[in-house]
Parts: sequence; C-alpha cells; structure tokens
Amino acid sequence: MKMYPIETGNFKLDGGAMFGVVPKTIWQKTNPADANNLIDMSMRCMLIEDGKRLTLIDTGLGDKQSQKFFGYYYLFGDFSLDASLAKYGFHRDDITDVFLTHLHFDHCGGVIEFNQAKTMLQPAFKNAKVWSNEAHWKWATEPNPREKASFLTENIQPIQENGQLNFIQQHAKDQIGFDVLLMDGHTEKQMLPKITYQDKTIVFMADLLPTIGHIPLPYVMGYDTRPLLTITEKSAFLNEAADKNHYLFLEHDAYNELCTVKHTEKGVRLNETFKFTDIFN
Ligand SMILES: [Zn+2]
Repeated sequence: MKMYPIETGNFKLDGGAMFGVVPKTIWQKTNPADANNLIDMSMRCMLIEDGKRLTLIDTGLGDKQSQKFFGYYYLFGDFSLDASLAKYGFHRDDITDVFLTHLHFDHCGGVIEFNQAKTMLQPAFKNAKVWSNEAHWKWATEPNPREKASFLTENIQPIQENGQLNFIQQHAKDQIGFDVLLMDGHTEKQMLPKITYQDKTIVFMADLLPTIGHIPLPYVMGYDTRPLLTITEKSAFLNEAADKNHYLFLEHDAYNELCTVKHTEKGVRLNETFKFTDIFN
C-alpha cells in the first residue's frame, strides 16, 4: 500500500467564522489574518493505492462555479489536483474510488465538472465509485438554511444521476479498505478515514480539526451545526490520539500536513508537526 498527500489548491475563509467564539486577539497568533480578516486554508486531499483500489479522499472545490463565487474565496497558490496526481504518476481516470468526508463544496466540488462546451455536468472521475453515507446524503440533499450555501446542488445531484453514488455501511473496511469514524458536530455523519500505514495510524481530520490552531477544545468553527457536540467528539478523539500517538492529517492547514498531539496540564495540545514525507516513505 502507498499513500500520497494531494494538494488541490488554497483558499481563504473569514477567520472569525473559522474560530467561532474565540476572539481574534487569540486565534490570530496561530492563524494570522489578512487585511480582510481572512485566513489561509488548504484543500489537501489524500490518495491511497492499496493494490485493489486507487482511492481519493475528498476532491477540493473544483472549477464549476462563477467568478463571483470564487471571488469570495481568494484562491491562491499553484496547486492543482491533476498536477498533484501527475507528480506520483497518476491520472484522474486511474481513480477507482472517491471517498467524500462530507458534501460541503470545499470537500466535494471537484467530483463533478463541466464538459468542454460547458453545456452539461459530468463525472470528473469517470471510472470511480463515489462514496458518501445515506444519512449525510439525505441531510445534504434536503439542506437546512444554515448549511444551504455549502451544499451546492451541482456538486451533489449529478453523482447520483451518473450512477456513481455508493453508501458506506457499518463495516466500511470491507467496502473501501480502511476504517471510518463518524462525527456529527460539524455536519450530520461526517466521515473521517482512519488508516493503518507503515505501522502507524493516520486519521484524515477533514473538518473535525481544520488546522493546528483548532486543537484546544473551545476552538470550534462557527460553521459547525452542533458546536457542543464537536467539543465532545474532539475531546474523545484527541485524548485517544494523544494516548496512541496517532498522526493527524490536516486537510485545511495551509502550513502543516500532519501533526501529533500530547497530554498537558491544560488538556490535549500540539506535540509536533511534520511533512508527510518526514514520517512516511
Ligand atoms: Zn465542512
């Protein structure tokens, strides 16, 4: 088995929204804001080659929406999904499985693209199954007013219409080759891949822990639908991650690919940060 971090691009989000009730005077120490109060975010996906499947976890936001839409998110940097796949000798048509942690646009937008004439939507990974779960799919396709702006119909409906949609069941490992942790604080049934690789455990943190600045328990995104539940889930998760020295793969941290955490008198805190290639070969 081989794993690769796949950078798909960087964007910016409002720092206040990213830190909920935590004041800027505190969060700006770990996540400095620009003149518009925006902080840097990555969309770092993961590729797993396990001999049977070539699985992409999340896709970045893709390129379907309007200039106006993308204007809100200040895309920056030179990364692209295709270039990142090519770096390891892969093409998007090689991908057999796309695993979507959840259907917010910055995680799933790349799964559906326009055809060349821009007249219709088509699968961006034409040989792949796409994995979600039934409860989250229902949640995303009948969205509440608060998350509606994150669940874009053009990213979601065509997955089903193209016949690519598959649901993760209770024994995810039998379906996709790794375990899945379900989290309900950020959105209904977000799925975090938990993967054993080179005798270590890697957890793909998605939106349970966007950046290393979000490790202290009350540092919860304003976007979360159930922030108190996020605190409960994060507490249990981080305690176990500190006990077992899990490697946390950070999808949204523009500066840190991986981190570990440790127990301190104040609670679980950052231990070390790493590049993926520092730890894994
Ligand atoms: Zn999200």
